[in-house]
Amino acid sequence: MFSILIAVFIISYHSLPLTAFNQRKAWHSSGSTHQELIENLYKNGLITDERIKNAMLQVDRADFTNDKFDAYSDRPQSIGYAVTISAPHMHSFGLEILKDKLQPGAKVLDVGSGSGYLTACMAHLVRPGGKAIGIEHIQGLVDKSIMNINKHHKNLIDENSLEIHKGDGRQGYISEAPYDAIHVGAAASGTPYELIRQLKVGGRLVAPVGNSFGQEMITYDKKADGTYYEQRHMAVMYVPLTDEKSQYVKSGGRKQI
Ligand code: SAH
Repeated sequence: MFSILIAVFIISYHSLPLTAFNQRKAWHSSGSTHQELIENLYKNGLITDERIKNAMLQVDRADFTNDKFDAYSDRPQSIGYAVTISAPHMHSFGLEILKDKLQPGAKVLDVGSGSGYLTACMAHLVRPGGKAIGIEHIQGLVDKSIMNINKHHKNLIDENSLEIHKGDGRQGYISEAPYDAIHVGAAASGTPYELIRQLKVGGRLVAPVGNSFGQEMITYDKKADGTYYEQRHMAVMYVPLTDEKSQYVKSGGRKQI
């Protein structure tokens, strides 16, 4: 009974702020193939932009999940180290909310790049001439994400449209700053000032912000005077942006789970 209540809470909590129409559709876009999954997200209004649909169609989720039999479910899945690849409808949300900035030639940062799925979609959207940079603090995930990307998207790395680096994403990745867009894939405990600092004027950052009792998806649009316009979108539940050691402890103290 308790676990059912928790599940109902998480599902309604996660989908609260989507529009009334989409609220019913989130979590119901699973498919039996990658194409079916993306078509369902599109039919259900969770992808509205053709460019984003095409980018997601190009990046097969099965290349990035541990469980190949559940790759096309619209839910997060464990990728080890106490973290998950996000649900497909959250990947589409991140791309949709940043779509104006994910244009050919743009430079974008994916903080907490994990499986590498979203970074690969971003790289497709900003080429030619642009670059998507993933920053991930667990070396095992950095290596695995590069392996995942190399299965069908080695060209992105070879042509310099995609890089994954190991580092603490809370500090951004200063050597390639400023960015047109920054996506944060784990929850920041407060306003991510350092990341906002690394945005271009006119650039946009999207991040889940909060703690395990409550998080909101927030966008920050950088203004010419260096300040930002903040917009709150919806309640979400993400793993925290944390330090390496705490994450290893959470994953059972082992380096690999
Ligand atoms: N968008 C990714 C999300 C992975 S979950 C995907 O769908 O695959 C969040 C990721 O953030 C995890 O991989 C976790 O290891 C990473 N992370 C947490 N804290 C971090 C930090 N301080 N710096 C960099 N990465 C971090």
